Amino acid sequence: MERLAEHHHPHPGEAGLRDAAEARLAAGGVAWTELRARVFESLASAERPVSAYDVSEDVSRRMGRRIAANSVYRILDLFVANNLAKRVESRNAYVANIHPDCSHDCIFLVCTRCGQIDHLDDDRLAVEMRRHAAARGFVPARSVLELEGLCHRCNG
Ligand SMILES: [Zn+2]
Ligand SMILES: [Zn+2]
Repeated sequence: MERLAEHHHPHPGEAGLRDAAEARLAAGGVAWTELRARVFESLASAERPVSAYDVSEDVSRRMGRRIAANSVYRILDLFVANNLAKRVESRNAYVANIHPDCSHDCIFLVCTRCGQIDHLDDDRLAVEMRRHAAARGFVPARSVLELEGLCHRCNG
């Protein structure tokens, strides 16, 4: 099984990404409601990982009415389940998935100073890790691959 990083197709621009996300959700049999669209837009326009609370504040502002963090939390879970978003576990926060059409074990580089995250895909590494786990009789499901450190702007 050869799935190299170069082979996936990130969607240029927010509009392209939103269309891809909508199509992906539809393929999963889930409706693209106005609230879900607003939550996705908020997530896709954020510069760093955001919490459900951050998103609910932003969406409430955009929609001009109070959206509870709990509703946003459920939508974010739905997005994660359908590969529209990824959860950055060490930050207890979410980012839009830039390649909703591909399933990868994404590797997140988390800057502990500015909170910025970078994202890389190395399927050889991920496949090897799962292979080692399987060789021990372990059945891998979801991976959490995060490196904490300083980004290129903060380490200068
Ligand atoms: Zn990825
Ligand atoms: Zn930084």
